[in-house]
Amino acid sequence: MAKAEETVLEIDLKALGHNYSYLRSKIKTETKFMAVVKAYAYGSHSVAIAKHLQDLGAHYFAVAYVDEGITLRKGGITAPILVLHPQKVHFKTLIVNNLEPSIYSKAILSDFIAIAEELGETDYPIHLKFNTGLNRLGFSVDELPEISTLIQQQNAVKAIALLSHLAATEDPNETEFTNLQLKRFNAICKKADELFKTKTLKHVLNTSGIINYPDAQYDMVRSGIGLYGYGNEPHIDADLQPVMTLKTIISQKHTIATGESVGYNRKYKSDHKTITATLPLGHADGIGREYGHGKTYVLIHGKPAPIIGNVCMDMIMVDVTDIECEEGDEVEIFGKNLSANEFAETANTITYEILTGLSQRIKRVLIN
Ligand SMILES: *Cc1c(COP(=O)(O)O)cnc(C)c1O
Repeated sequence: MAKAEETVLEIDLKALGHNYSYLRSKIKTETKFMAVVKAYAYGSHSVAIAKHLQDLGAHYFAVAYVDEGITLRKGGITAPILVLHPQKVHFKTLIVNNLEPSIYSKAILSDFIAIAEELGETDYPIHLKFNTGLNRLGFSVDELPEISTLIQQQNAVKAIALLSHLAATEDPNETEFTNLQLKRFNAICKKADELFKTKTLKHVLNTSGIINYPDAQYDMVRSGIGLYGYGNEPHIDADLQPVMTLKTIISQKHTIATGESVGYNRKYKSDHKTITATLPLGHADGIGREYGHGKTYVLIHGKPAPIIGNVCMDMIMVDVTDIECEEGDEVEIFGKNLSANEFAETANTITYEILTGLSQRIKRVLIN
């Protein structure tokens, strides 16, 4: 692991491999694994992550939007790619790039069929998404007969899979609701099997679903956050390894006399002699202003250094009064030694948000 000389996001492919094996160990050998690599693979590097997982045997990939799928194709991903939320304006490019759409309404289904017909497709693979209680995207169960008729009237597209998404797999207080969602999904699958003449793949579980609802694996699971080293529960986090470590260096140290202030709007005022270190990253890199004002800390030589004052666009200042350190020394914002989950919690948010919000300006460095 090279010492950082600027702000970098280190991406540990060995940790990724470990997390993939761990998640695979939780599912049956015949269950397919869909790796969710939307949003730059949760802020890391979608092509590098997907390539490594493809080599390790992941069967399927998922992205949110068509452009993300095209990036994977250009990067050499040949495995099937599901686009979770495709927009009509990109249906043609979706087909040209051999991506599979998640279709969630009759209007979208008709639009997609029309474009597939226009391109002369036959049996173009689509996934049908059902709403079982998240109330975000998806057909309702009552629409099944109509969807089935629509699909059987043509041969440009073929429903190869059915999916739904669960609202609270990580929350032990919501097991009853999750079980209700699973029951609804099961009923949808049964009904669809009667209506459709062909067999479909079924998939419903995300990372926490894999951990907490092992009986609902169906044919495939969809995992994102777990691959990157976070399991939404401390005992799962303990078995996973953080893939991303955000590192930087100390640009400059300052000695702040009592009564002086630090940063914009003078938000930090020292009531004692304070030594600060200025670091080259800020809210433009994804470290929002909610991380300022002493609530969040970073690690310098293993010791916590609180972020003080307002987070600036390109810099943060940390309190290093009690830490022996020099300009140029390495700083860990979060990752290997300081969980992104704990870091996110100091700002009342979740790992998903801090990771996916890391700006593209930060250099990505692959290790291992
Ligand atoms: C993002 C997403 C996932 C992955 O969820 P994790 O909690 O990161 O494992 C799975 N399915 C759908 C539909 C998603 O949008």
